Parts: sequence; C-alpha cells; structure tokens
Amino acid sequence: RTQNGASQEVPEWKRIAAGRGDMGKKTTASIEEQRRGLPAYRFRKEFLSAVEQYQLLIVVGETGSGKTTQLTQYLAEEGYSDKGMVGCTQPRRVAAMSVAKRVAEEVGCRLGEQVGYTIRFEDKTGPDTCIKYMTDGILQREILLDPELSKYSVVMLDEAHERTITTDVLFGLLKKTIKRRPDLKLIVTSATLDAGKFSEYFLGCPILHIPGRMYPVDVLYSREPVSDYLDEALQTVMHIHLTEAPGDILLFLTGKEEIDQSCETLFERMKALGPSVPELIILPIYGALPTEIASRIFEPAPSGGRKVIIATNIAETSITVDGIYFVVDPGFVKQSAYDPKLGMDRLQVTPISQAQANQRKGRAGRTGPGKCFRLYTELAYNNEMLPTTIPEIQRQNLGHTILMLKAMGINDLLGFDFMDPPPTNTMLTALEELYALGALDDEGLLTRQGRRMADFPLEPALAKSLTAAPDLGCADEMLSIVAMINAGQTIFHRPKEKQQQADQKKAKFHDPSGDHLTLLNVYHGWKRAGKSDPWCFENFIQPKTMRRAEEVRKQLVQILERHRLKVVSCGRDTTRVRQALCSGFFRNSARKDPHEGFKTLVEGTPVYMHPSSALFGKTAEHVVYHSLVETTREYMHNVTAIEPKWLVEVAPTFFKVAGKDGLGMSKRKKAERIQPLHNRFQGEDDWRLSAQRRG
Ligand code: ADP
Ligand code: MG
Repeated sequence: RTQNGASQEVPEWKRIAAGRGDMGKKTTASIEEQRRGLPAYRFRKEFLSAVEQYQLLIVVGETGSGKTTQLTQYLAEEGYSDKGMVGCTQPRRVAAMSVAKRVAEEVGCRLGEQVGYTIRFEDKTGPDTCIKYMTDGILQREILLDPELSKYSVVMLDEAHERTITTDVLFGLLKKTIKRRPDLKLIVTSATLDAGKFSEYFLGCPILHIPGRMYPVDVLYSREPVSDYLDEALQTVMHIHLTEAPGDILLFLTGKEEIDQSCETLFERMKALGPSVPELIILPIYGALPTEIASRIFEPAPSGGRKVIIATNIAETSITVDGIYFVVDPGFVKQSAYDPKLGMDRLQVTPISQAQANQRKGRAGRTGPGKCFRLYTELAYNNEMLPTTIPEIQRQNLGHTILMLKAMGINDLLGFDFMDPPPTNTMLTALEELYALGALDDEGLLTRQGRRMADFPLEPALAKSLTAAPDLGCADEMLSIVAMINAGQTIFHRPKEKQQQADQKKAKFHDPSGDHLTLLNVYHGWKRAGKSDPWCFENFIQPKTMRRAEEVRKQLVQILERHRLKVVSCGRDTTRVRQALCSGFFRNSARKDPHEGFKTLVEGTPVYMHPSSALFGKTAEHVVYHSLVETTREYMHNVTAIEPKWLVEVAPTFFKVAGKDGLGMSKRKKAERIQPLHNRFQGEDDWRLSAQRRG
C-alpha cells in the first residue's frame, strides 16, 4: 500500500531515477554499484550517441554484460520514453518476466508501473509503463494491429541470435516499419551472432561491441562417448562439489521432467553422503517454472556451501546467474522440429551446435577463470556438431506464422524479406494445412474464417476449433477447454507419494468420450465449487492453473465478442464439442490398430494412448489428439473419441470416404473407411505459389 502511494507521488521516469536514493538505502546503493560494475555501463555514452545518430543499430555483447537490463534503462533515462515506450522482446516468457522483475527492482518501482512485461494472456503493464519487456510473439501481435507500432519510440529485438521464427519474421516486418516511421529506433541485440550477415541484412547498419571481460575457461572433454548422459552429469556435479575449489555449478539438461528427476536423484545422493560434506543447494530452472521458484536461482549460496543450477538452455543466454565457475554440458537440447513421419512439429532431443557449446562454456568465465566439463568427446565436437544452429524458421511448421503474415496483407510469401528463407516445401505444407482448415481460399488468400483465426493468439488448429464452435452452438464449452489447454502448467497435481490417490480423484472427472471433455468437467466442477482452493486441494487440482485458465478464458471471450460470435452452451449435447474439435484437429486423427495401439490416418504412423488418458483401456475406435509426446513411444496427449464421418464433414478437402475399394462393404463399414486425399495438389504444386506471386 505505502509503496503504491510512494510511487504515485513520483510517476515520471526521471523523478524515479533521481529519487532512487530514498528507497531502502542499503539495497539501492548495492544495486547502483552492481549496475555501474556491468560492462554495459562503460559503453553507455557510446551507445546513446549511436542511437541518436542512427535509426538502426546492432549491439553485440557477452551474455551478462547488461544488454537486456541496462540498455533499456539508459534509453529511458535519456528521455526516449517520453515520446513512447521502450520495448524489448525476448524469445522466452520466463526471461521476459524475470528481467522485467529485475529492472523494476533496479528502477525502484513495482512491476507493472514504469517497468512491466506482457506475455501471452498476461499483461503486467500500466499507463505509466515506459520500459516494456515482452515475448517476440506479443510484438508480432501488436504489429499486426498497428504496423507503425505507434506506442513505441524504441524497439529492441533482444536475443536475436536465438533466431526464433517470430524474431525472424519481426526482422522483416520491422524493416518495413522503420521506413514508415523515421523517428522509431530499432536496436538488434545479441550475445553472439554473425554480425556481418546481420548488418548486411539490416541495410548495412553499424555494429557496436560492448567490451566484455571474460576469464579463460578450461575445457575438459570426455575421453569416451558417454552412454547415459544424465547419470554422468550428476556424477560430474558431485565430483566438482567434492573436489573443486569454491564456485557455483551450472548443468544444462533438456527439459522439465529430466531436470525435476535429476534434482531429486542428486538430492538423494547428497543425503546419502551424510552431514559431513558441505551443503549443495540444488536449483532447477526451466520455462514452466513458477516465477517465485525461478527467482531463487539468483540468491547466493550460504557460505561454505555451493549451489548447482540445473537448467534448460534458457541459461545459455537468456538468464545470467553470477558466480558460476563450473559448467557441465552434456551437449543436448530439446527443440521443436518438423517431423515428416508425423506431419507435424515434435519436440526432439538433439545435439547442440558448436556455437551453443561455446556459449555454454562461456557461462563459466564471467566471474573468474572457470572450467567446462563437456560430456562428449573432442572428436564429436569437431565432427558431429553443426557449426551453428539451424534457425527455427527452417525447421518448424509455419502455419501460425503464415496466418499472421496473411492477416497483415502480406501475400507474397516467397518475396518476403526473410534473412534465411524457409524451405519452399515447409511453406507449401503450411499453406495446405491452412487451406484444409478453411483459413485460405483456392487462390491462397485469407478467408473470413482465416481472418478470425488470426485474431486469436492460438495455434491454427485450436483457433479453428474455437471459431467453429459458435456455429455448432458450443462456444461456451469450447472456450473452457481451450482455456484449460492454454493455462500453461499442468492442471492435475500428482505428487510422487500420493499418485494413487491423485489418480483416483482424477478418474472421477473422466468423461467417456475423452480428455477434452474431462477438462471441461474439471472446469465446471471448479466453478460449481465457487472456484475454491480447498476444493482444488481435495481434488488434486492446481488452483493456480485454474485461475490462469479463467484469465485466459476471459480474454478469449473478448475476442469472440469482437467478432460478434455468440457464446452459447450446448448443455449435455457434447457431441458438438467433439465435432468442433474435429474441425481443427482432423489432421491429428488416428484409428485403432487391430494389433496394437493406434495408427494416424494421414501418415499411418503408430501412436499410443497415454496411460493418463481418460480413454486408456477404453474401446475408442477413432480419435483425434491435441499433440504427441515422445517418451518411450509416441503418446497421444489430450485425446477425444470421434466418429470418422465427421472428418469428411469438417475437412472435405482433406478426407474422403473410401472409394472403389470399399465396394461390397456394408454402408456402415464404408462410412468408417476414411482416407486422406493424398497429394490432392500433386502436379498442381504451382497453384499456391502462383497465387502467392499474384498476391
Ligand atoms: P545480458 O542481457 O547482456 O546477457 P543482463 O542484462 O541480462 O545481461 O544481465 C546483467 C546482470 O544483471 C547480470 O550480471 C545478471 O546476473 C544480473 N541479473 C539479471 N537478472 C537478475 C535478477 N533477476 N536478479 C539478480 N541479478 C540479475
Ligand atoms: Mg540478455
């Protein structure tokens, strides 16, 4: 309360900056000292005069030099935020939240006042916000609505080396924007990048280097190839902890499950050593981690002890923790890539590139000379790793991106100014998918349906299901389901020691037709119980996720209403909900295989029902699923039973009822023989491309 009052008295950026000394003296002073100690500080003047002189600028600086947290503040302090916001994009949501929180602390305001952030379905900015951190996806949405980005005076595209699809598309879009807005400044920042290539793409703009201080890092390779990198990684961490000089450890793993599991194992192994060994604080960090836990990684380890941070590649460049002397690098990353066998994107664990390996190594040399333990051989580094990572745009499904570009009136996709154009085939696949979803017409132009879909910050299939629901009279139900799917974290709480109890509670919500309606049952139960937390605890439901789902739902309702789409309920007639799901996810359809599991209808790939599904062990013949998760096998995630004839009804350009070979079958059998219309456009491939060219 008092904090709020205090900040209202000094609403302006500069006064806040000047008034810093008043806020809790000790901490403020040390924050100021920290700021002055960063490499960016000595570069401040040079940076600001370059911004004044040039409209477009590339800034390269070691990770941790202060690009993300400092440059925005310098710009605001210099008065750029008087004419509009200083916006800064991040490829990752956690990074956007974490840096905004830090900068708000440095500025001495509350998050959402002068400094705020916006991520999908969550806006922590206000009328006073002058520095806004956001995901690159948010800026892409904003540029769709306002191509001039009139709210901003400076846009900083941060972490450009990550080359997410969205950042890559923003490159092209912002190049146009700055032509229309000579007063807008664009700064592209990165830890490591092929600066020459970037400068060439960005009209020969100047490249500034933040002089960094880096200490040497010893690299220790594995002598032999490692068979179990998880076990090896934990052994290495223990070895460092027990034998090396003081200094914190950073271990790179690939994802949430792996990290949680390793934290637990490491904890057990440390406990087994007894109280005589020094303390090891084990801290996980990955994208889906709640912010309160995530910020613990910045707290120093108790004296005599040591901390180990177990992170995804979020700690490669987006988040910097001081005091790391040891890096353990197994050499893997989980990344999403298009899998032609499945006809969709899939998360895969793949070897990192040499550039990534060196970036990881560098994390050990920021505070003093460090050591990097590579759990792969030098031979593998030299011969098996790619020099640099392939940009996302060249390996992922482009459906969502193309929908956005089309909605901005950019029809000539082949002519779009990509830094590295995506392969034509990837583009064709996406166009074909959007066509089948009814988002594009025969000419490859955006339909009304497509325009609607583009307005939802959802993957095209979900957007289609949601926008198809009003016509089917089930928008109310579909909204709840989509919101639950997009709530970010898991809905069902399943603690290790109470798995059975949790599963029993979950089973009470199970709907005979599948997981989507199960989610709906949970949502309805939660509402009936007055959205109460005790109800959640009793039912092993995560209350936070439910609240977030409600927030997501509210925002989706607003978009539906903007399009004058009616939010009506289908009551008990939930067949309609399943039909609406089909209209978006027909591509993700599978049929029970007489031998084992299921086979996808489109590619015939074997897939399996996950044991946690409401349909596990049930007799569903045909299903659609939301996504595939690979563990030991390809498991379908969020599965719903359907009638095959719906597939032909909702996607007549994609499926047909079996033709001649169905002769002699009963009518019913025949109706169940649904086939994809394979290669409908074969030989006509140029159809879409020529439409692009004409457009
Ligand atoms: P860069 O963007 O160049 O990689 P940053 O601006 O992110 O660098 O970080 C600058 C410094 O601020 C680093 O030393 C980092 O440890 C510190 N820092 C960033 N976020 C936090 C935080 N949430 N808490 C404490 N220190 C932080
Ligand atoms: Mg940064």
